[in-house]
Amino acid sequence: MSRFQILNVLYIAALAFIAITERYSTGIEYKVLFLLFLSYVFILFLGVVFTQLNLYVEHELAGNARYNEIALSFDDGPNAEFTPQVLDKLSQYNVKAGFFLIGQKVDKYPELVKRIDNEGHLIGNHSYYHHIKFDFMRSREVMQEIEHTNKSINKIIGKTPHFFRPPFGITQPRIARAIHQSKMIPVAWSLRTYDTKKSKFRVIKKLRRKLNGGDIILLHDNHPEIIEILEFLIPYAENNGFKFVRIDELINQKPYEIS
Ligand SMILES: [Zn+2]
Repeated sequence: MSRFQILNVLYIAALAFIAITERYSTGIEYKVLFLLFLSYVFILFLGVVFTQLNLYVEHELAGNARYNEIALSFDDGPNAEFTPQVLDKLSQYNVKAGFFLIGQKVDKYPELVKRIDNEGHLIGNHSYYHHIKFDFMRSREVMQEIEHTNKSINKIIGKTPHFFRPPFGITQPRIARAIHQSKMIPVAWSLRTYDTKKSKFRVIKKLRRKLNGGDIILLHDNHPEIIEILEFLIPYAENNGFKFVRIDELINQKPYEIS
């Protein structure tokens, strides 16, 4: 049972309780009903915005915090300018990472997809268009996005991704249903750096403060500051006893569908 289903059961139980007690009181307490409704809508909203709550679907968020293993993940590529630089940097430090690719860009830059795979990194699915209205799409449309991207990736590397990361880190019941029906493993993160919005100084400050064993770190390979962030992060983490592994190793799940 998902947390969403448990929530619904709890609210139905609360309504039943009110209905029963109503028989013995003078009138319906509309204020209580209204507050109940408001709190329900508020929790649904929180579940949409905060993937980490796992309200609609159980995401993979992190590995075991007791170990010192951590994983890098890059969203929104491949990017013609910055993905090769990120790959060079990872190769320099001999670190393997995960790349959640946008299908449309996969079709545009197949050579980069091939390079990511050839260099031992993991490839995940990050929708086909990364459309601004993704969160309002129907299950069927989300499934089409997932399948389209998987086909594009499979055509290039001969493997079908098993990991899916929803665009914008938002999940609602229809997206959850599509992930479930596509048999994808939803992979979120435990440490979001906001590297596309904040300066590299603030990103580095956050990484210094928040880095923990088991973390899946969310970064993007589509902006110039990513290189300096990696130049800080990789030696910093290794000097502090952390070991970089791929996400599939961290969460112990198979990254590709075997067909
Ligand atoms: Zn994205």
